[in-house]
Amino acid sequence: MLTPVTQEWLQMLSLYGWIWIIPIVERLFPLNKQPFVRSGMINDLIHTYHRLHLHSMLNAAFVAWLVTYAQRHAGQGAYLQGSLANVHWTWSFFALLLMGHITFYVAHYYSHKIPLLWEFHRVHHSSVTLDSFSTSRFHVIDKALFAAPYLMLVTYFQPDPALIFLYISFRDFWGRYGHGNIKDAHWLGYFVSNPKFHRWHHSNHPEAIDKNFSGEFNFMDYMFGTAYYPKERIPDNFGETGYSNNIIVQHYRPFVDIYNIAKKDGVMALFRKPKPKQTSQTAQE
Ligand SMILES: [Zn+2]
Ligand SMILES: [Zn+2]
Repeated sequence: MLTPVTQEWLQMLSLYGWIWIIPIVERLFPLNKQPFVRSGMINDLIHTYHRLHLHSMLNAAFVAWLVTYAQRHAGQGAYLQGSLANVHWTWSFFALLLMGHITFYVAHYYSHKIPLLWEFHRVHHSSVTLDSFSTSRFHVIDKALFAAPYLMLVTYFQPDPALIFLYISFRDFWGRYGHGNIKDAHWLGYFVSNPKFHRWHHSNHPEAIDKNFSGEFNFMDYMFGTAYYPKERIPDNFGETGYSNNIIVQHYRPFVDIYNIAKKDGVMALFRKPKPKQTSQTAQE
């Protein structure tokens, strides 16, 4: 379906295109006033280029295990197994979008609600100045957990690998655009997770805590009441000032924090989020 030349172009854009084109757009059409260079930028660039190796390796190992497991246990003709292998590409692409969206929303929701998962996801939320470079700031475990349910579905339904490649390229672009400090039309945020929509997800404003979980299309946020998208305001307060901008620290700190939570409040505290304290009128839900 995709010629090798197209594939090469998409790969080049993922590696060097969006990463550098979107920062230019951000500086031409900014949503928030932000410095040209910010602290933590180098760290996020290291994330960008190292993750291609480390989390791809984790995901590749996971897929290899899934395939072996499926071969050993599923047998011939398990329910709907491989059902996307021979359908028209439009159905396949639609299914990929839907699978990607639902798995992302669910994984993202639980990474906020379960303290054990949150300590890993917290790394992504630590950027104090949010821009497209922040897109890649992820703990490898968090990134691999986000991808796992999607990889399971894709391995099971077996759509055309070229389509998966196309979808991943699309996601790569969308991640960078969605985190970008870019001013665009307000109405877009009713349909897709545009910069303004996703920036509320990263904000520290109490009314936006645990809102806007969507990756690309945001119908699930509207369906389940987790959308927060006011017309007249834009968020201006992001991240955690005290969190390290060093990729090494960002990778071991979650383990230290998890250990400390378990030691202080017991292991079960890692699975239940404490109820928000009723100190003010603003509900944190
Ligand atoms: Zn999040
Ligand atoms: Zn984000």
